[in-house]
Amino acid sequence: MQALTNRVKQVSRKPLSFWERIYLPAILKGMFITFSHIFKKRPTINYPEKTRPFSPVFRGLHILNRDEEGRENCTACGLCAVACPAEAITMEAAERKAGEENLYREEKYAAKYEINMLRCIFCGLCEEACPKDAIYLSETFAPADYQRKQFIYNKNELLIPHPINEPEAFKKAQGGRVKRETV
Ligand code: SF4
Ligand code: SF4
Repeated sequence: MQALTNRVKQVSRKPLSFWERIYLPAILKGMFITFSHIFKKRPTINYPEKTRPFSPVFRGLHILNRDEEGRENCTACGLCAVACPAEAITMEAAERKAGEENLYREEKYAAKYEINMLRCIFCGLCEEACPKDAIYLSETFAPADYQRKQFIYNKNELLIPHPINEPEAFKKAQGGRVKRETV
């Protein structure tokens, strides 16, 4: 039969030799490979007691950021939601009232802010899009759960601890992150 291309390879089906038919060399070879791993360094670790160092570009659970005075940075502009390819972010904006200047940095703030972690692909585009340094992806995993509704994180779950009231927790949530320029 004429071949359509010159990449055709003829397969030869040779009869099995005696040693191939009894499988013994193949079994011994397999066992040798298995036993050789006993003396190698184990690649597994006892998580969560031990953890591996994260890559500097690791993107984990989102944090809604505050400024040094503890005011929420988010101005509910919606750019993160627009940038999100998974449509995981929803929010409701509200106007800051007189006397709330210590709570919200801008005149508008997010009264409601939710991220659906089941939709999120941890791409980091929300962080890139934010002009207020108000959201970033931390070095924390989203914890496992049994119910889907638990994966919709609301504003209270996403907000970073207050830097003045809870300085240790604030510092931990920030990790080694460098503050970004805002507009
Ligand atoms: S990390 Fe990506 S997918 Fe997740 S909320 Fe942000 S933009 Fe959306
Ligand atoms: S997190 Fe940033 S981009 Fe998203 S609504 Fe708030 S200020 Fe705008």
